[in-house]
Amino acid sequence: MLEKVLIANRGEIALRILRACKELGIKTVAVYSKADSELMHLSLADESVCIGPAPAAKSYLHIPAIIAAAEVTGATAIHPGYGFLAENADFAEQVENSGFTFVGPTADVIRLMGDKVSAKHAMKKAGVPTVPGSDGPLPEDEAEALKIAREVGYPVIIKAAGGGGGRGMRVVHKEEDLIKSARLTRTEAEAAFGNPVVYLEKFLVNPRHVEVQILSDGQGNAIHLGDRDCSLQRRHQKVIEEAPAPYINEKARHEVQARCVQACIDIGYRGAGTFEFLYEDGNFYFIEMNTRVQVEHPVTEAVTGIDIVKEMLRIAGGEKLSIKQKDIVIRGHAIECRINAEDPDTFMPSPGLVRYFHAPGGNGIRVDSHLYDGYRVPANYDSLIGKLITYGADRDEALARMRNALDELVIDGIKSNAPLHKTLVCDPGFCRGGVNIHYLEHKLSSKK
Ligand code: ADP
Repeated sequence: MLEKVLIANRGEIALRILRACKELGIKTVAVYSKADSELMHLSLADESVCIGPAPAAKSYLHIPAIIAAAEVTGATAIHPGYGFLAENADFAEQVENSGFTFVGPTADVIRLMGDKVSAKHAMKKAGVPTVPGSDGPLPEDEAEALKIAREVGYPVIIKAAGGGGGRGMRVVHKEEDLIKSARLTRTEAEAAFGNPVVYLEKFLVNPRHVEVQILSDGQGNAIHLGDRDCSLQRRHQKVIEEAPAPYINEKARHEVQARCVQACIDIGYRGAGTFEFLYEDGNFYFIEMNTRVQVEHPVTEAVTGIDIVKEMLRIAGGEKLSIKQKDIVIRGHAIECRINAEDPDTFMPSPGLVRYFHAPGGNGIRVDSHLYDGYRVPANYDSLIGKLITYGADRDEALARMRNALDELVIDGIKSNAPLHKTLVCDPGFCRGGVNIHYLEHKLSSKK
């Protein structure tokens, strides 16, 4: 088992990882930027180290500062959480080369799956169904690019090979826009991800976003923990997630889950990971793999009873996966609302002082949040301030509990998107279940 884990992250996920370490008797090191000295988990960690000024580039993204913090505190492993350096292969490599354990896959696997073009290629080889498109990067040659798009059929979507977080994507509806859009996306991709390579995919018109959670020990054992539906999105970013995904063709589901497990064994995957798919007309199409813990992992924990973060730590400690596929039973239904510090109408960030925070409670309610009375949300980072997760014997019960939880939640001093969630969990379409990835945007634009 790992002895001492440095948590290279902040906010709710840092607290989540800290809790898992404490349960396993692992010592913890928290790191923070100068803007984050009030973070809740700092006082709960065995040690904490300031790693730099507020800008993430000089703290949470600054690899030498994090490795130095691990060295001075005698940490033996580093958990990257999500975002920041979590999917940075160079970071994973430097962590391991400096003699620490990286809680996640090997640098090679992160590199393979981090490039969406090579990831798609690898998945195709493993028999995982993918979205039709350019096999490999979209050629810079205009005539060739136009030919590929014509074969795929409009609308198409141009995506950055190195993209993430819902950025670096552009939908093209007609041929005359293709070249200009490809050029724009390349420029943006170069600026945002340092990689100008783009690829092209058929733009699926009404898909749902369904993903499969896996655990794999890198020693030949892998299992899946069922699926999640994350179709409620704004600007390609998830707003509400649930497990299991409702109304899925059972045959297609079992087939795709089995393919994901096999793909993990094939690529020697180590740790927790997620295969993301678009789901349309009963078919799954792979879009990307996330080689880290995801924001929405708690809904899977709720319906499987498996603690994903503890499993990640056990796997990183060298243990073989002790859970067998037959032990995984999906029971009940869980929903997660992402609570952001933002204006519920304009979506403008709303950092500042939290004068009063009251977390909901009761049967089937989980709150993962680093907020407390008097905490100041800094303006420097992502606006996620917490997650509300409800569990029920079925979807209706989980929804009813979410309505209660949102009614009980109080965040005074800053704005949050809780009012938007209140509307969504009463929305007839969402309540029926199985809405597609455009549903929320349509709803928001029809409100204007
Ligand atoms: P990121 O890594 O930035 O999250 P993804 O490839 O996972 O990028 O795509 C994010 C979201 O963009 C998807 O959940 C979906 O809403 C939309 N999207 C991506 N590819 C397609 C496609 N081929 N057709 C329709 N929508 C897509």
